[in-house]
Amino acid sequence: DLFYRQLPKVELHAHLNGSVSFSTIEKLMARKPHLNIEHGMTAIRSGQRRKLWMSMCFKVFKVIHQLVDTEEDILMVTKDVIREFAADGVKYLELRSTPRKETTTGMTKRTYVETVIQAIRQCKNEGVDIEVRFLVAVDRRNGTEVAMETVKLAEDFMLSTGGLVVGLDLSGDPTVGHGRDLLPALQKAKNCGLKLSLHLSEVPSQADESELLLNIPPDRIGHGTFLHPEVGGSQSLVDKVRKHNTPLELCLTSNVKGQTVSSYSQHHFLYWYQMGHPSVICTDDKGVFCTDLSQEYQLAASTFNLSQEDMWTLSQKAIDCTFSPDLNQQLHQRWLELRPTLF
Ligand code: 5GP
Repeated sequence: DLFYRQLPKVELHAHLNGSVSFSTIEKLMARKPHLNIEHGMTAIRSGQRRKLWMSMCFKVFKVIHQLVDTEEDILMVTKDVIREFAADGVKYLELRSTPRKETTTGMTKRTYVETVIQAIRQCKNEGVDIEVRFLVAVDRRNGTEVAMETVKLAEDFMLSTGGLVVGLDLSGDPTVGHGRDLLPALQKAKNCGLKLSLHLSEVPSQADESELLLNIPPDRIGHGTFLHPEVGGSQSLVDKVRKHNTPLELCLTSNVKGQTVSSYSQHHFLYWYQMGHPSVICTDDKGVFCTDLSQEYQLAASTFNLSQEDMWTLSQKAIDCTFSPDLNQQLHQRWLELRPTLF
């Protein structure tokens, strides 16, 4: 729908390798024919809501990681993803990605991040109409030591890029590892000025971990699917989130296709939105889940019976949830200039 495409949007929860579009995947496959990767292995197509579940998602990421294993790949993928978000009307984007080392190609975690930053700068120089910032991601499966190293890397880049690296993300398979082991690293990140976006209560029975992580407290929450009492969370968790007014990054299609939410109408967006809590609609992995941010806004509107005016307000309020408060005024001004006509 034209309205949602024209609507200026903020994207705060986008994993780089999950955001790779089909056309970019095709370019990567052409570069690496020896991998013999089939089309169906890198995306969960629409209407194909087959038995997926989390584990399946993480298999898809593994395949994509095989396809993206050199600096050259990272550069192309990052630039394509940025251009695609811009073409969808996203004016401010926070990308996140897990630095990866590939012994076979010589890519290191440092050159990985350097290349992402280079891609962001190139897009800016090429005049792509979007502000992009980067969150360095910690994969929870890798434990304490790697998390510490990743925080150090993020801190170095925050200082050397003049603020293009704004924060740290905690993600990875939620059924593996425990947040308590990562607490020191997250605390260290917070203390050195990195903003924290943490995947929290993405699957059931993570209440203890969420309790622990919410005490830091994080600056934003990814998903938070099982925080509230109606789904096995608790009022005390909700109270903590409310007390700090911590924004939630909510990804409808991702949660429905990942089967942590049974249907769109059951999505926890409604719980938080009705409470007037800062809720930001995001894509998570637009490539893997075959979606884009316009579609997610439209889905939220049609599912919860929200007007275009409501959706305009939602996109405007998302500006206040970014990790770049220095851009707030400028973005609010842009929003007013770009306000689409309501239909
Ligand atoms: P990358 O960090 O390689 O750019 O993007 C893919 C990675 O993002 C995955 O390997 C995983 O660690 C993380 N990721 C992507 N989507 C999700 C999600 O829905 N939940 C969690 N917990 N992690 C995710």
